Amino acid sequence: MGIEKALGDTIFTTQLSKAVNWARKWSLWPMPFGTACCAIEFMAVQASHFDLSRFGAEAMRFSPRQSDLMMVMGTITRKMVPVLRKIYAQMAEPKWVMAVGSCVCSGGFFRSYSVQQGIDRIIPVDVYVNGCPPRPESFIKGLMEIQKLVERESLIDRKRRIEEFYKRLEQINETDYEPADEILR
Ligand code: SF4
Repeated sequence: MGIEKALGDTIFTTQLSKAVNWARKWSLWPMPFGTACCAIEFMAVQASHFDLSRFGAEAMRFSPRQSDLMMVMGTITRKMVPVLRKIYAQMAEPKWVMAVGSCVCSGGFFRSYSVQQGIDRIIPVDVYVNGCPPRPESFIKGLMEIQKLVERESLIDRKRRIEEFYKRLEQINETDYEPADEILR
């Protein structure tokens, strides 16, 4: 006899990981890493018309140790790369990354030696949001994709995926590579 049968509608059972992921999904604390115009567009996402509170993600934290979702918005110059890496490394696990705007995803129209051509050569990106700048609706769609990922991915799968990312990065980017834990030493 199942426990639900014995106790009727008074309780329900689930797996701990499902309950934890559900709570995480609805309580993301974003860390806005804004360097240019995309970050200005993001202000509209926070305002009442689009209202990020509906997704439980309105508590912006400018302290990496209190955040679990890094939103990178704006052109990332090579000089900013060590800063971005360090802030990412300072965020506690589990953490997710949203690359917002063409500049962050691929360097955008800045085909220049001074601009990083995509942040997925530095840190593991979970969701890409295209546009220059993306509309607030696109931001929200990106956030919803992150929520889906948070809900379905176990922490073990996630750890494996991040390790694979760094292994691949080591192979493709040997000269430029610096693992996150070494930055903090
Ligand atoms: S993608 Fe466009 S709007 Fe966003 S930072 Fe780059 S130039 Fe600015």
